[in-house]
Amino acid sequence: MTDTAGTSIDAGRTPTGTVRRPALSPSRAGDFKQCPLLYRFRAVDRLPEKPTKAQVRGTVVHAVLERLFALPVDERLPERAEALLEPCWRELSAEQPAWTALFTGPDDPALAEWLGSARRLLAGYFELEDPRRLEPEACELLVETELDSGVLLRGYIDRIDVAPTGEIRVVDYKTGAAPRAIGEGKALFQMKFYALALWRLRGVVPRQLRLMYLADRQSLSYTPDEAELRRFERTLDAIWQAILRAGRTGDFRPNRSRLCDWCDHQAFCPEFGGTPPTYPGWPEPIAPDETPLDRAD
Ligand code: SF4
Repeated sequence: MTDTAGTSIDAGRTPTGTVRRPALSPSRAGDFKQCPLLYRFRAVDRLPEKPTKAQVRGTVVHAVLERLFALPVDERLPERAEALLEPCWRELSAEQPAWTALFTGPDDPALAEWLGSARRLLAGYFELEDPRRLEPEACELLVETELDSGVLLRGYIDRIDVAPTGEIRVVDYKTGAAPRAIGEGKALFQMKFYALALWRLRGVVPRQLRLMYLADRQSLSYTPDEAELRRFERTLDAIWQAILRAGRTGDFRPNRSRLCDWCDHQAFCPEFGGTPPTYPGWPEPIAPDETPLDRAD
């Protein structure tokens, strides 16, 4: 489809030439809700962002938990998780120069401290549940589905547990240092997104959405219902329509809030005296809609 300004708005091509449609992910939908200009910087301009130690730690802890569940049930012990931590860090950081740049080298005392904080998160996980008593159906699962309105949803789910009775539980690990009060609304939005995607894919509303706050060593469980997910579907439709409208015109407005403190793009933001780059038009969506760092909040 092409709008009156001649901007392609509904299709992109992967490097192999196959068409890949733009999709809505919980992270990018959250960005647009928070600040349309932030959405543009991330999803359209794809401006680089510096990873934080907390984000990278979250990604590594998620990877450790994924590998833990790949072990035989009896071996899913705290010491095995701890033993997975440093190899996971070395392996993942080897592909990410920006991650290794967070530390001066393997002997940096800050690295030892950071690994210690990751160990505490893993210990927090074991306080919340015993992985020997679980057999997840999937970890780090990519889900993609299309709503009746044509909106394509795409996202990664940390873990799905399915009971012998068929009831589905969606689990999300929270590793960030942000207080729960700030992150909770965002986390529930993300969980409803996954619940809706699974409902559309499998025809079953997940029985439980479980957020596990590893730093706080607390979990929050939530039971969605069909009426609520239908309302949420309308919300996502409205967000996507607003994104497309902004995408046609390039009119992505800044929305200043206290969350600007965490925004990497103040130098380009008019709210902070900056000028955005020239609008490149609606993107060729060749990059993933979410990065591992998005999933590690
Ligand atoms: S600094 Fe604030 S207003 Fe500006 S783009 Fe970032 S989040 Fe939006």
